[in-house]
Amino acid sequence: MSDFDIIVSGAGFGGLSAGAQLAKNGRKVLVLEQAERVGGCCSTYEQNGFRFDIGASIVEAPELLNRAFSRLGTTLEKEVDLIECDPIYTVILSDGSRMTIPKSLTGTEEAIRAIDPRDVEGWRRYATLMDNFRNTLNDFFTSPVVRFSDMAKIVKNSPAMLKYGSLFASSYQDVLNKYFKNDKVKESLAYQTFFIGLPPELAPGIFAVIPFQEHDGLYYVRGGMIGIPEALRRCGERAGMEVRLNAKVKKVLIRKKRAVGVELSDGTEISSNVVVSDINAKTLYLDLIGAEQLPWLARVGVKSYETAMAVPMLYLGVNYQPPLNSHHTLVTTPMEEMNDFWWSDYRTGGFTRRQFAIISWTSQSDPHLAPAGKHVLILTLPPSLRTCGRKSWDEAKPEMIEKYIDYYSKRCIPGLKDHIEVAELATPLDFERRLGTPDGAIYALRQDMMNETVFRPAAKSRSIAGLYLVGASTHPGGGVPTTIASGIVATDLIERYEGR
Ligand SMILES: Cc1cc2nc3c(=O)[nH]c(=O)nc-3n(C[C@H](O)[C@H](O)[C@H](O)COP(=O)(O)OP(=O)(O)OC[C@H]3O[C@@H](n4cnc5c(N)ncnc54)[C@H](O)[C@@H]3O)c2cc1C
Repeated sequence: MSDFDIIVSGAGFGGLSAGAQLAKNGRKVLVLEQAERVGGCCSTYEQNGFRFDIGASIVEAPELLNRAFSRLGTTLEKEVDLIECDPIYTVILSDGSRMTIPKSLTGTEEAIRAIDPRDVEGWRRYATLMDNFRNTLNDFFTSPVVRFSDMAKIVKNSPAMLKYGSLFASSYQDVLNKYFKNDKVKESLAYQTFFIGLPPELAPGIFAVIPFQEHDGLYYVRGGMIGIPEALRRCGERAGMEVRLNAKVKKVLIRKKRAVGVELSDGTEISSNVVVSDINAKTLYLDLIGAEQLPWLARVGVKSYETAMAVPMLYLGVNYQPPLNSHHTLVTTPMEEMNDFWWSDYRTGGFTRRQFAIISWTSQSDPHLAPAGKHVLILTLPPSLRTCGRKSWDEAKPEMIEKYIDYYSKRCIPGLKDHIEVAELATPLDFERRLGTPDGAIYALRQDMMNETVFRPAAKSRSIAGLYLVGASTHPGGGVPTTIASGIVATDLIERYEGR
């Protein structure tokens, strides 16, 4: 008799979503988290009276979140205080001009018209295509994709998907080039390619849906982004799920090719019928299980996965109202330069001449995140490797903080430099150390077409019985809504294959 029906390693979105649903289904669930709080990449901490989100700062596709909460017998609206951001962005283009993108599609059409009237027709055609396409996506994201036959099943149940085959076979850049002519318009729509961790020429065309889907609503969470993982935890605990913090899993215990529990870093062994892992799949298979437990082909496959990009994050507490006009400001660079950045500056590291960022002015939406009269700004900076040029990130940090503040003061936030009370930089190395994610990768593994769907590590392990994967490492990949969806996929697989 095992201690638990299910042990979940890691209290990120994938782990909490699966753990809470399985508890709601009557399973005895234990969630083990090595950190002192839940949420992983989507969490919030406090310093000198300012509350900072450590990673994710944008919530999109609330329908997917709602699917998870409705399985927990509640709704997203009841559990999480979401604040809608409208305008969804201000874009500061590389030539210094600004473009405000409202939630309304017709308002966006006018913003495009102001740049180039020729692209209004393209925007309309793009919006029509994506409007239909995005309706098929939520089912795709919550369906298991373990074998090729699963893909065939998805298409059979949703034949409309076939119409969008070209989006699967093309790149994000191809889609923008097909519908838009003006380089500034393309630049304003290209930044989101980094939301899936690749430059426009490498990102799959299906993700060109993002700049359209954002018009369904872009949200922030009152009190900070940790509000979503906390809500999943609360729902799970109501159903009997137990969460242990500061509990690091050292090994997944395997007997006769089946996962039978875990060993913690203090040597404690806990048994279970099923293990669910929210840990990076490479770390899971190579360190926590051991390559020797895998068939040779799986060993080669796991080793071949490349980690996704990482980003440094700059957390600023300031004692003035920043001269911005939206919760989210995208500081962009031309689409071709995003590709060039990927092949040159990104590989060499350091302070790159092509700077681009998301500026999240979170206290604009929720003033309680900062002391009265003060504000929180969080900058998601250009992707980086785990070293900073020739230096380690630990060595380079103080000089890089100064350079970033200086640059963004001059380019788009006048006065910033003179009003800083708190300035912290979380580097890829910090993310690796704090969250145990190799290279600090924000989406675990690379997300091009050859690492998606059946090519990504499977939600139901093909090598180890009783082992299930959730989170950014598995289908449907990294991001807030998608990792929550991965918990739906794993729950359904466990209910199908693991008897009581
Ligand atoms: C800087 C940054 C910015 C981002 N911005 C956005 C955004 O704006 N919008 C968006 O949608 N997505 C964003 N993302 C991506 C999104 O936050 C992640 O894809 C998602 O939160 C990952 O969820 P996950 O379930 O994979 O687990 P993770 O968040 O990776 O959590 C895994 C958990 O497992 C724990 N853990 C690791 N090893 C062990 C162990 N051995 N034992 C026990 N516990 C362990 C970790 O401490 C962690 O809590 C961002 C990510 C980062 C890092």
